[in-house]
Amino acid sequence: MSTTAQIIVNIPTRSITKPFSYLIPAHLSFAAIGWRVLVPFGNRKVEGFIVGLEAESIPGLKSILDVLDDYPWFDNNMLQTAKWLSNYYLCSLAEAMRLFIPGQSGIKTQKAYQVPRALDWEYTKALLRDKPEEYRTILNYIYEHGPVTLTDLAKRFTSIEGMIKFCLQHKLIITADTVSKRGKANSTMLIKLAVSREVAAQMEKTLPKSKTAQRRLLQALLPTQELTAAELRSLAITQATVKKLAEQGLITICSVPVFRNSYTAAQPQAAELTLTSEQLQALQHIIPAINTGAYTSFLIHGVTGSGKTQVYINAAAEARRLDRQAIVLVPEIALTSQIVARFRAAFGDDVVVMHSKLSVGERYDAWRRLHAGQAGIVIGARSALFAPVSRLGLIIIDEEHEFTYKQEETPRYHAREVASARAKFAGATVLLGSATPAIETYYQALQGEHRLLPMNKRVDDIPMPAVTIVDMRQELAQGRRSVISLPLQTMLTEILAKKEQAIILLNRRGYSTFVLCRECGHVLKCGHCDISLVYHAPTSILRCHYCQERHAVPDVCPECGSRYIRYFGAGTQKVEEALKGLFPAARIARMDQDTTRGKLAHDKILAAFAAGSYDILLGTQMVAKGHDIPNVTAVGIISADTALNLPDFRAAEKTFALLTQAAGRAGRGSKPGRVVMQTYNPEHYAITAGAEHNYQEFYQQELSFRQQLGYPPYANLIKITVQANDETIVHRQANQVAAELTQSLAMAGASIIGPFPAAVNKVKDIFRVNILIKTKDLPTITKQISTMSIANQKNIIVDIDPVNVL
Ligand code: ADP
Ligand code: ZN
Ligand code: ZN
Repeated sequence: MSTTAQIIVNIPTRSITKPFSYLIPAHLSFAAIGWRVLVPFGNRKVEGFIVGLEAESIPGLKSILDVLDDYPWFDNNMLQTAKWLSNYYLCSLAEAMRLFIPGQSGIKTQKAYQVPRALDWEYTKALLRDKPEEYRTILNYIYEHGPVTLTDLAKRFTSIEGMIKFCLQHKLIITADTVSKRGKANSTMLIKLAVSREVAAQMEKTLPKSKTAQRRLLQALLPTQELTAAELRSLAITQATVKKLAEQGLITICSVPVFRNSYTAAQPQAAELTLTSEQLQALQHIIPAINTGAYTSFLIHGVTGSGKTQVYINAAAEARRLDRQAIVLVPEIALTSQIVARFRAAFGDDVVVMHSKLSVGERYDAWRRLHAGQAGIVIGARSALFAPVSRLGLIIIDEEHEFTYKQEETPRYHAREVASARAKFAGATVLLGSATPAIETYYQALQGEHRLLPMNKRVDDIPMPAVTIVDMRQELAQGRRSVISLPLQTMLTEILAKKEQAIILLNRRGYSTFVLCRECGHVLKCGHCDISLVYHAPTSILRCHYCQERHAVPDVCPECGSRYIRYFGAGTQKVEEALKGLFPAARIARMDQDTTRGKLAHDKILAAFAAGSYDILLGTQMVAKGHDIPNVTAVGIISADTALNLPDFRAAEKTFALLTQAAGRAGRGSKPGRVVMQTYNPEHYAITAGAEHNYQEFYQQELSFRQQLGYPPYANLIKITVQANDETIVHRQANQVAAELTQSLAMAGASIIGPFPAAVNKVKDIFRVNILIKTKDLPTITKQISTMSIANQKNIIVDIDPVNVL
C-alpha cells in the first residue's frame, strides 16, 4: 500500500513548482491521486493536490492533516489537462490546477492565537503584573478556547491590539491557523417514513386523541413517504413533533444537499423545429463522431442566423443520450442569455449556468452537481472549461473567434487550445462555431485539423441584409458635420415610420473620447497611465479607463494655460444627443459599460428592447452580439474603422468580425434588413468584404498579408513583457532579456522583435516594455524558455500565443 503522497501545494508562489512528499496517515489511507487535502506547510496549513503516490515511506515526513472533499476532485483527464496547460503556457502545475477549483482556493485560513503548551505561568504572572486587568482575562480566554481568531477576540474584548502585540513579543501566545472550507455544501432536512405504510397507518389510528400534531404528520407522510423541511413548514409541523416520531422509530431524519442557483429564469417551452437541410447535414457528421468516443474537432462556419444554436442543442442531446456531459462556452455570459434560455428550454435543470456573478458557494454547488452527474450540461464563459465533468463527451465553443476566450492573466491560456487538449484526453468531440472564424482556426480547418461544416444560408432563406457604405469624407465635403450621415438618417426615418427597430453601434463609450487643447494640441492624459482621459458628460468628469481614476475638467490647459479646451470624438452620449435631435419622438436605449454596471443589466435593456419598449438601441460592441430580435430591420455603424487604425496585426480581423456581427443583427425575422456603415476607409478590404458578407474574400486578403509578414497562422508568437516602476530600469532589463533571448533562441530559428514600449506604456505607474518572439517551432522554443531565468521572474510575463501584441 502507498504510504507517501506527492502533493502540489496551492500557494501563489511562482518559485515552488515541484511536488512535496507527505505521509498518508492510516485513517486517510483511501486518499489517492486527484484528492484535495490539507497539509502543513511551514507554519501554515494549506490546500494541496495529490499528484503521485509512492510505496516506500521516507522517515521524518509530515503527515496529511485531512481531506477536503469526499471524493477525488481531479480525475485523470483533468490532471492530464492541467499538466498539458502548465507545459504549453509555461505556468506552474499549481497555477494550472487552481483553474479547476471553484473560487480562488478551496479553503480559507484565518490567523488564530493559542497559548504555547510549555508556558511558564509564574513568569507570565510577573510579566503581566503592571498590565491592565484585561490582559489576563484575554490570555485566560485564549488559554481555554485556543486557537481563537482575531475576529472572535475583537467581538468579545475591546482594545486587544496592545495585548496581542505584547503577548506575541514575549511568546505568551503563538499564532496558529484555523482552516475552514470556503465553499460549503448547503443541506436541508428531509424526513422519511421508517416503517411500512401499513404499520404507519396502524400507528396513526392507535395514537392517543391528544396527539393531533403527530397524527397530522403521519397522515401527511402516508402518500409520499417523505417530506421536505419546506413542506413541514407549510403544514405548520414543529421540530418537536418530528423529534417525537423519530424517538418512536417511526421516521428517520436525514439531511440532503440543496443547490443554490441564482439563475432561475423562466423556462420557455422548446419549440418543435424541422431542421434545415444545412443543419441536418452538419449533424450527419457530428452525431457519428460523438458516438465513436474518439476525439474529433469540427468548425461550423455558419452565417449569422443560419441556426448554429440548434445544431449545438442537437449535438448536446446526442451526448446526453450516451450519458456523456457537455461543456458549452460562450464569449461573455452576460450577453448570451438567449443561448442559455434555449438550452434551458431543451434540457431544463440538466443545464448549469456558470455566471461570473455566482458566489463561491453557488459555484461550488454547481460544480458538485456536475461532478455527481446530477447535471449534464454546463454553459459559461471560458472558465467553465474547467468544470469537473467526469464523463466529458462534447465541448462547444460559440463565436470561437472572440478574444474573450483568451485569459489575460496567468495562466494566459486560450480556451480553444485547452478545449482541444481536454477533449483529446477525454475522447470528446469539439464543436467550434462562428460566422467569422479566427484566421488561425480557418487555416487549421483547411489543413484538416478541424472538419469544416459550412452553413451558408439563413434559416427560411431569409436574405442577408443589404449594406450601404458611406464615405464620411464625402459627407464632410458636402458640408455635413453630424455624426449621423444622410443615408443613416434616411434609413432611420423610414424604419421608424414603419414601427420597426434599429441598432446603432459605436465602438466607444463616454461623451467624447478625448479632451484636447486647441491652442497647443495638448491631450489630457491620466497621470498614472499613458492614455487619454475620457470625458463623461452627465457628471462632467474625466475618467481613466485603465485605472478608473477620476479627474475634474481643468479650466485652462495645464500645458499652455489656454482656455480653448475642446472635447473630441464621438462617444455614445454624443450620438444619443444627435439622435434625439433628429428624432425627438424616438425612444432610445443606451447600452454601454456606463449603463450596464448592475447585475444582469444587459439582459434587462435587451429584454426591454426586444419587447418593443424602445425604437433604437444604441451602444458599444455589446449591442452587436448574439441576440436575435425579429423586428430589428436596420443597423447603423457609426465608425466602421475605430479598430482599423490600431497598430495591431489583428486590426482588420477584429473590424471584419465586428461589422459582420453587427450587420448580422438586422433582418432576422420575416422583414429584410439593411445596414449603413460609416467609414473614412471605404476601400479597405475589411470594410468592402464586410459589406458583401464575403468571408472568403476577406480570408484570402488577410492570409496573404499574414504570410508576407510571417504572422500567425504562419508562425507562433510569444510575447515577453518586462515591467517596472522605473523607466530606465525597465528598458535596461528589457534589453538584457532581448539579448539573452537572441543568444539562446537564434539557433532554433526564432526571430526576436523589440524591445519596444507597450502601446499603453504605463499603467498604474508601472512601465511596460514588450519583446515579441516569432517561431515556427513553438514546442522547442517554449522548452528553451522554460529553462531560462525569465520563466519565473516576478516582473516578467511570458504570454504564449498572445491575442494582444500591443
Ligand atoms: P445563429 O446562431 O447561426 O446566428 P440561431 O441559432 O440564432 O442562428 O438561429 C436563428 C433563428 O432561426 C433563431 O430565431 C432560431 O430560433 C431560428 N431557427 C433555427 N433553426 C430553425 C429551424 N430549423 N426552423 C425554424 N427556425 C429555426
Ligand atoms: Zn494648451
Ligand atoms: Zn489611469
